[in-house]
Amino acid sequence: MTNRMQAAFVERFGEPLVLRACEIPSPGPGQILVKTEACGVCHTDLHAARGDWPLKPTPPFIPGHEGIGRVVALGSGVANVRLGDRVGVPWLYSACGHCEYCLKAWETVCAEAQFGGYTRNGGFAEYILADPDYVAHIPDGLSAIDAAPIICAGITTYKGIKETEAKPGEWIVISGAGGLGHLAIQYAKAMGLNVCAVDIDDGKLDQATGLGADLTINAKTGDPASILRQHIGGGAHGVLVTAPSLTAIRQGVGMTRKLGTCVLVGLPPGEFPLPLFDVVANCITVRGSFVGTRQDMAEALQFAAQGKVRAHVELQPLSAINRVFERLERGDVAARVVLEFSDR
Ligand code: NAD
Ligand code: ZN
Ligand code: ZN
Repeated sequence: MTNRMQAAFVERFGEPLVLRACEIPSPGPGQILVKTEACGVCHTDLHAARGDWPLKPTPPFIPGHEGIGRVVALGSGVANVRLGDRVGVPWLYSACGHCEYCLKAWETVCAEAQFGGYTRNGGFAEYILADPDYVAHIPDGLSAIDAAPIICAGITTYKGIKETEAKPGEWIVISGAGGLGHLAIQYAKAMGLNVCAVDIDDGKLDQATGLGADLTINAKTGDPASILRQHIGGGAHGVLVTAPSLTAIRQGVGMTRKLGTCVLVGLPPGEFPLPLFDVVANCITVRGSFVGTRQDMAEALQFAAQGKVRAHVELQPLSAINRVFERLERGDVAARVVLEFSDR
């Protein structure tokens, strides 16, 4: 192997990514090197490249947190991952392992956590450095391309659905039926829930119906909360808002049934006003949810390995990343784009 690789860098916020060659990193003590086979493109990568959030990465950096590949080199002291293992390098790149949150298996909120493709270089590159204690272990029989969307879009929605506490036979709303949402619909059906998908794009809603959604609502055609009530009498027991839209979040709270829980995972920049009287008088819970733990990862991957969920994937080369970003921004990606890396 040469010691150079191709990667896509955010050099400056708000500008196109720059494709260039750079040195292949070598794994230090306790690190591994992964040769990328596939990496999904998440809307979060777009937020990262724009510098949308209060906690900002430091350019230049390589985005991508759905990278899957084989372990090709081990740093000293690595015992739990072997050469040739297929792993994923997720958003939760590493955590401290000993704070109060890590001890409670809530490593996702560890103050020392590092984020793949954000505070650490990610998978829009031919090789990725990773922490073997936090990589996803890809089950045999699941291809790199099929696994890629699971390690962010899949785990985030699987965990988010659990956080709604909706029970089999109850209703869940999945607001935003794109990369995250199209997997959320499948997880929710596999978990025995009735699913109402909400989006602003009829194509996404047709796809949702094809994936098993029991009801779809185009939020552009009217107030989704009153349309939902006409159909199911009262709101949904659980609501999962994946749409990167403050309007969708406000509408999500409005679609939540009394005693129900609205889980927020979409991360548009900004704030939204909570309709206090409705939330208080109806005893509604509004809850944030951030990817998932390593145990959630193993569970989310099992659903995919067993064929209960399957990402709709459009393959593109790394060189197409800026066109993919423009389409994602316009809502012009049907489900998930996965960058495929050819073997050189
Ligand atoms: P995406 O672009 O693939 O999908 C977004 C979907 O929302 C699209 O189908 C779009 O049509 C729909 N939408 C837009 N406005 C809407 C509205 N007003 N009402 C209903 N639907 C609307 O994006 P994605 O990759 O699924 O990511 C979605 C969001 O989730 C992003 O903000 C991303 O940063 C965030 N995210 C959060 C976590 C987490 O851990 N909390 C993890 C991954 C992604
Ligand atoms: Zn993501
Ligand atoms: Zn910690």
